[in-house]
Amino acid sequence: MEQAMFWEKASDGKIECRLCPHHCRIAEGKRGTCGVRTAQNGKLYATGYGLISSANSDPIEKKPLYHFHPGKMIFSIGGWGCNFKCGFCQNWGISQQADLKGTPIPPDKIVADAMSEQSIGIAYTYNEPLINIEFVSACARLAREAGLVNVLVTNGYIEKKPAEFILPMVDALNIDIKGMDENFYKKQCSASLNPVLAFAKQAAGAGCHVEITNLVIPGLNDADNQIKKLADWIFDNLGQKTPVHLSAYHPQYKMDLPPTPPETLERACRLFREKLPYVYIGNVFSDAGQDTSCPQCGNILIVRRRYSVRLTGLKGTKCAKCGRPADIITGK
Ligand code: SF4
Repeated sequence: MEQAMFWEKASDGKIECRLCPHHCRIAEGKRGTCGVRTAQNGKLYATGYGLISSANSDPIEKKPLYHFHPGKMIFSIGGWGCNFKCGFCQNWGISQQADLKGTPIPPDKIVADAMSEQSIGIAYTYNEPLINIEFVSACARLAREAGLVNVLVTNGYIEKKPAEFILPMVDALNIDIKGMDENFYKKQCSASLNPVLAFAKQAAGAGCHVEITNLVIPGLNDADNQIKKLADWIFDNLGQKTPVHLSAYHPQYKMDLPPTPPETLERACRLFREKLPYVYIGNVFSDAGQDTSCPQCGNILIVRRRYSVRLTGLKGTKCAKCGRPADIITGK
C-alpha cells in the first residue's frame, strides 16, 4: 500500500488529511470524504493508488482544452472517488463510489500505454485526479521524462502546498469553476468557492496553460450577475486570453431539473464575450460556439465540427490574416 502525502496526526489520535480544504479527520480503518484515503495503523494511505476506472485515447478537445495542441489525441485515465458531492455529477458512477478492490496499474505501464496510443501525453480526468496526487505525480514525472505533456481536469479543490508540489509537473489544466456563489458550492457540492479560485490563480501563476469550464444550470447559477462576476474574475485574475467553456447541464444522478436551454447558453456566451474573446459552448448537439476567431480581425482561426478540428486561419502561432498572436499552444 502506498503511503499518502500531506497529513498529520491529530491530538485525538485521528489522522488529519491536509490534501484538500476538507481537512478530514479520519479514524482508524476509515476513509476520508473522497473515499480513497484510508487511516491504517496510525498512518494515512493512498488506497486509490493505481486503481483505474477508465482509460481512453480522446481528442484533447474533449477535456475540454481548445487552445492547447488543438486536433491532437491524449491518453486519458480516471480513478475512483471525489472530494465534491455534486448532485448533478455526470460521472457519478466512478466519482461517488470508490471501488478499491482492483489490481493497481503501475505508473510506468500508464506512460507506456500513453506512448503506444501515440498521444501527446496523459490527461488525468473522469473523476477528480487531485485526490490521487501520489499516483498522478508518479505518472506525471515519468511522462515528463518521456517527453509527454500532463493535463489535469479538476475541480481545483486542493490546498496550497500540495498544489505547489504538483503544478511544476503539469502543462495544462481545465479547472471547473461552478459559479461565484459560496452558497452554491456549499449546498450543491458540499465544498467552498475560495480555495478553487485560489488554485486557479496559483496554476496560472505557475505558468500552466489554464482553461475554465462553467456548467450552466438553469435557476441555480445562470443569473446575469453571477455570469458577469465570473467573467470579471477570470479577466482580472487569470487574464483576458483565458478560454472559457460554457457547458450545458443535463439531468443526472440526483438532479432532475430540466436541461439548460440553448438560449441560456447563448445569453451566457454573450455576457462572457463582453469581457473575454475565447468563449465556447459545450455538451450540446450543435456546432454553435465552437470555432475560434481572431479577436483583432475576426478571421476564423480554428473550425471545430464535433471532434473534427481544422486549423484554417493560422500561420504558425499567429493569425494568417492580421498577424496577431493567436493565443494557441501548438507544436506537438
Ligand atoms: S483529499 Fe480526501 S481525505 Fe483528504 S481532506 Fe480531501 S476529502 Fe478528506
